[in-house]
Amino acid sequence: MNFVREINTYCSKCNKHTPHTVKLYSKGPMSGLKIGNRRAVRKRTGYIGKVKGKAAVKKLAKRQKVMLSCKQCKLVTERVIGSRTKKKLEIKS
Ligand SMILES: [Zn+2]
Repeated sequence: MNFVREINTYCSKCNKHTPHTVKLYSKGPMSGLKIGNRRAVRKRTGYIGKVKGKAAVKKLAKRQKVMLSCKQCKLVTERVIGSRTKKKLEIKS
């Protein structure tokens, strides 16, 4: 899957369409002390054990994401591209 390096799209800070640079989405390092993490750990402790259960259907692919940063105000937003696919996203030069 190819995607262009620069697009013209709406920026909520500038309140108009501006040129945005496109970068591949990359997940940051997980923090063990976030509230969701602490809550999940607390749920799993004790006699009852498994709380959440298993997913009946496992999704086979992921939706690809890009980061858009406004060239005027440097605001960074996420955007999901297309539907679920196994193909990796590439930025066309
Ligand atoms: Zn902007």
